[in-house]
Amino acid sequence: MSTPTGWEPVIGIEIHVQLATRTKMFCGCALSFGDRPNTHTCPVCLAHPGALPVLNREAVRLAIITGLALGCDIAPRSEFHRKNYFYPDLSKAYQISQYDEPICIGGRVEVLTPDGGFPVGITRAHLEEDAAKLVHAGADGRRAGAQGSSVDFNRGGTPLLEIVTEPDLRTAAQAGAFLRQLRATLRALGVSDCNMEEGSMRADANVSVRRAGTTGLGTKTELKNMNSFRFLERGIDAEIARQVAILEDGGEIEQETLHFDPESGDIHSLRSKEEAHDYRYFPEPDLVDVVPDRAWVEELRAGLPEVPVDRRRRWMDELGLSYDDAEVLSEPAELAAYFEEVAAAADPQSAANWVRGELRAQLRERGQEPWESAVTPAHLAELISLIGDRTLSVPLAKEVLAEVAATGSAPRAVVEEKGLGQISDEGELVALVERLIADNPAQAQQLREGKDKLVGFFVGQAMKATGGRADPARVGELVRERTGS
Ligand SMILES: [Zn+2]
Repeated sequence: MSTPTGWEPVIGIEIHVQLATRTKMFCGCALSFGDRPNTHTCPVCLAHPGALPVLNREAVRLAIITGLALGCDIAPRSEFHRKNYFYPDLSKAYQISQYDEPICIGGRVEVLTPDGGFPVGITRAHLEEDAAKLVHAGADGRRAGAQGSSVDFNRGGTPLLEIVTEPDLRTAAQAGAFLRQLRATLRALGVSDCNMEEGSMRADANVSVRRAGTTGLGTKTELKNMNSFRFLERGIDAEIARQVAILEDGGEIEQETLHFDPESGDIHSLRSKEEAHDYRYFPEPDLVDVVPDRAWVEELRAGLPEVPVDRRRRWMDELGLSYDDAEVLSEPAELAAYFEEVAAAADPQSAANWVRGELRAQLRERGQEPWESAVTPAHLAELISLIGDRTLSVPLAKEVLAEVAATGSAPRAVVEEKGLGQISDEGELVALVERLIADNPAQAQQLREGKDKLVGFFVGQAMKATGGRADPARVGELVRERTGS
C-alpha cells in the first residue's frame, strides 16, 4: 500500500525480545516453551513475600552484545526500577524493568535493502522481566467471550530485552525491512531465537502522520503486539490510512493504544490516554546497580561475530554479488561459511550460482544441507574449474555433481572413472560436425542462406549424438566454419 498523497508517516518501533538464557531473569527456574503449565516456578518468580531476586549474568551479557552490535553505548552504570501496575498475570503487582538508566543507549543501524538502504537510530535497549501468561478458557481461547482464565507462571520472569528505535521509519515496508534485519542480527548473535509465533519476538509500532514537507510531530498511536512481519506491515498501513482519513475530515487523532486484527483488517482501541497507567517507577531496592566491567565489555565487543547484514554488504562490495544472491547466501551461518569457502577457490559469481541453484536443488532431494553433505566446498570449486577449462559442459557437470553427492568422490576422479569429460579431440569433433552437415542438407542450406538460429539445431544434434560430451561452444564454431555462415 502506498502512503496517501500529501502526508508523511512517522514510525518508531519497540521490540520485545526473549533472551536465550537457560534460566529466568531473577531466579534459577528453567526457561522452556510449551512445557506443562506451572512446572517451572519458585518463590521468586511466584512473588512470594520476602523472596529475593538475583540478576542473571547471561541476560546482561546478551543485552551488552546486542547493544554493541546495534552501535549503542553500554552504560557504565544502569539500574532496575519497579514498574507498578496491577494485572492478573503479574503476581508482584510490579514488573522489574529499567527506566531512566537503561543498559544500552543511543545506537544506529544501516538497514540494507535492494535499492540501497536507510539509517535507523536506536534510542535505547533495556532489560526487564516478562509477565506470566493468561490462558483463556472458552469457545476459541480468546479473552473476549471466555468462560474463565488460568495463569501459567512458566513464562513469568523470562528475561526480555526491549529495543526502542527513534521515529526514523517512513513506511510500513521500511519497518518490515528493519525488523527482518534485526531478527537476522539477533539470531546470528545467539541472543534469541526470535520466534514470533511463540512470542519470543514481539513488536509494537508508534505511528503518526504529518503534512508532507512539515517537520512537527503529529499525535501518535501505538499498535500493540504484532506477531508477524506481514501483520505488522498491514497494521501500520491500515493505521496510516485511518489517521489520514480522520485528519482530512478535520478531526483529531487521539493518543491511544490500538490492536490490529489481521483477519478483519480492523483496528480497535485497547485503552485511551485518559486511562493510561501511572506506573510510579521507583528503584528496585533488592537489586544492586548493573556496573559491567569495562574489560569484559571490550572482550565482548572483540568477540562479536560477523552478522548477516555485514556479510551481505561485504560480498556485494568485494565479490560483486547482487543483493539477492548476498541475501540468500548469508544465512544461516553454516551456509555463509560454505559459500565463502567455495568463493575463495572459484569465481565468486559461479560459486553463488552453483550453491544457490543446482547444489541446493540436488541436496534438497537427498534431504541434506550443503554443509552436511558429501559435497565439500573444495569439491564444488573443483567442479566449477572443470567447467571453466571446458572439461565439462554444464549438463555434464550436473551429472558429476550428483555422483559427488552420492559418493563423496572428487569431481575429477568421477570424470575419469565414468569417462564423462567433454570430447577434447578436435579431429573427433570435426568428423562429427561434417557428418551432421551431410546428414541434414536442408538445414545446412538454410544456415548458409543466413538462418543463423540453425546453429542451435546442429549443436543440439551434436550433444544428442555424444551423450552431452561435445563442447557446445566449439561445435557451434565448427558448424559456422564448415557452412561458411
Ligand atoms: Zn523461579
